[in-house]
Amino acid sequence: MTLGRFAPSPTGVLHLGNLRTALASWLSARGAGGRWIIRMEDVDGPRCRRDLGEAQLRDLAALGLESDGPVLWQSDRGALYREALAALHGAGRLYPCACTRKDLQLLASAPHAEDGLRPYPGRCRGRAWEGFDRALRLRLPEGAVAWEDRLIGPQRDDPAALTGDPLLFRRDGCFAYHLAVVVDDGAQGVTEVVRGTDLRPVTATQIRLQEALGLPRPAYAHLGMVAAPDGSRLGKRAGALGLEALEARGIIPEDILGWLGWSLGCLPRPEACAVSDLIGSFHWNRVPAGEARVPEAWA
Ligand SMILES: [Zn+2]
Repeated sequence: MTLGRFAPSPTGVLHLGNLRTALASWLSARGAGGRWIIRMEDVDGPRCRRDLGEAQLRDLAALGLESDGPVLWQSDRGALYREALAALHGAGRLYPCACTRKDLQLLASAPHAEDGLRPYPGRCRGRAWEGFDRALRLRLPEGAVAWEDRLIGPQRDDPAALTGDPLLFRRDGCFAYHLAVVVDDGAQGVTEVVRGTDLRPVTATQIRLQEALGLPRPAYAHLGMVAAPDGSRLGKRAGALGLEALEARGIIPEDILGWLGWSLGCLPRPEACAVSDLIGSFHWNRVPAGEARVPEAWA
């Protein structure tokens, strides 16, 4: 059975881009007769706040998007991530990284890095094991990873060129994003990962980590980003494109659903609707692969 998920970081307000991803993942899972869950990715230290996560859940519920089953908070799941690290260490796949932020900046030549991603060049690969209280990286095997994206088709990436050996545990004691996301998708039985195309460059690395942990590979769909009316990045303007800010300007959840549904190819024109009106008309082959632009009147 299909299990989809939406996994926001509770560091701010969900804007139209986040809500579009949430809706697409919900429509894809529910449209296939499956289930859909929400998971809070709050391992990233003090920037993550419970109250922000609760507000995100309220916004999703206002659109009719509610988790089938309890919402997991990654900050509660350290024991599971620790077990995964122990398994990887047992398989000889981890090594301690002593690089400082400054070291990494000096090493970052990375002509092919996308979007500010800087591949880690493997500088500490030869370091002897020093225990679990160090920054830890996964030793990637050589070679490219091929995978099929529901929206953008066949993909082939060399994770060494995009991220290099990923950090799984940080020197400040936090579990890193790649570890938490892969372990939880596996533990929860997620079969379908729908997310923004900004995360496409880390997919091959996450597939390598799944393989190292013996976890099944979910299907992937990477959605185009939501851009300003002129096609530029939303940047700081995204803050004004949350549910509450839009409602204050008279744009109600049904209007937002209509626009989101239209932008996902479910409706011939953006008109107010409920989430249940969209479910029968969602198909991946109708979803435009490019960016979606915020209507002029909302920007
Ligand atoms: Zn290092």
